[in-house]
Amino acid sequence: MKPAVFDYHSPVELEEALNLLDEFGYDAKIMSGGQSLIPMMNMRLARPKVLIDINNITELNYIRITDLDIKIGGLTRHHQVEESKEIEKICPLLSEGMKLIGHSQIRSRGTIGGSVVHADPTAELPVMLTTLGATVTLASSEGIRTLTTDEFFMTYLTTTIEMNEILISIEVPIPPPNTGYAIDEFTLRKGDFAIVLAAASVTLKEDGKVESASLCLGGVDGVPVLLDEVTDELVGKEPDSDLIADCCSRIEDLVDPEPDIHASAEYRKDLCITYAKRVLERAVERAAQQLK
Ligand SMILES: Cc1cc2nc3c(=O)[nH]c(=O)nc-3n(C[C@H](O)[C@H](O)[C@H](O)COP(=O)(O)OP(=O)(O)OC[C@H]3O[C@@H](n4cnc5c(N)ncnc54)[C@H](O)[C@@H]3O)c2cc1C
Repeated sequence: MKPAVFDYHSPVELEEALNLLDEFGYDAKIMSGGQSLIPMMNMRLARPKVLIDINNITELNYIRITDLDIKIGGLTRHHQVEESKEIEKICPLLSEGMKLIGHSQIRSRGTIGGSVVHADPTAELPVMLTTLGATVTLASSEGIRTLTTDEFFMTYLTTTIEMNEILISIEVPIPPPNTGYAIDEFTLRKGDFAIVLAAASVTLKEDGKVESASLCLGGVDGVPVLLDEVTDELVGKEPDSDLIADCCSRIEDLVDPEPDIHASAEYRKDLCITYAKRVLERAVERAAQQLK
């Protein structure tokens, strides 16, 4: 199928794009990589009367690293993050997770802003950002606001972005020393959207005990699920396999996934526990390597 008829605009500055959003309101849709929006338009699940293509707004394509955070512009492509040597060194979770997004063709067009605003609950980026305590920054003609992932993701494919806003950047805090990360997922075929995915970050103290940790699951609810109830139990303790397994067994009572054509609720729950254990163990191992 082909999309319904639409008018096309290709602004070269953010201000111009924001003015177009003000002018056309709910009739308009932003297009960045087009990897999700165009298939939806072709299937007539989305019928914007006006398409605002932001691909020429080059000011939104950047990776900037400061002492405090990694700032990534909304138009930055997945492959740019995947291939950044600096990001690989400072925050390897992002590099590792990017490689799990679809196929290289998708990653060469798909953008950070598109992936975050599309808000698929099994997408890697929202889960990584939640694990990392990242923020998202939105611009409108009225100004700029920065939100936590908790404030941004609402439910399946739905966020708190307003109709006149554009996601201009994400900000990932620079992790403390002795931090290890991991991300892993269960897919039916390589490159498919995950059935369940898990990401973890663990920071160890010099004595090998856990300073802080976070664990986030995707594919179990409409938004990424941060499991502080699990990781709080690790803090201040030596994180061996038995402790991690014991903490992860709590997930049984903490998640309530929906069944679908790919997996029953029980199977999805089992996957959550298996993958949570796996990423926590790997993150601890990687953090411990830095203590040596
Ligand atoms: C075959 C295939 C496999 C895929 N596999 C995966 C996968 O395994 N994991 C995964 O995470 N994703 C996967 N994707 C999706 C891919 O990551 C998309 O790139 C992403 O979801 C959307 O990014 P985009 O830049 O293409 O956005 P678009 O398709 O252009 O836009 C998506 C939505 O975001 C809005 N939008 C885009 N940019 C902005 C912005 N800056 N500000 C405000 N609104 C904006 C659009 O209006 C639209 O509603 C797959 C896609 C395909 C086609």
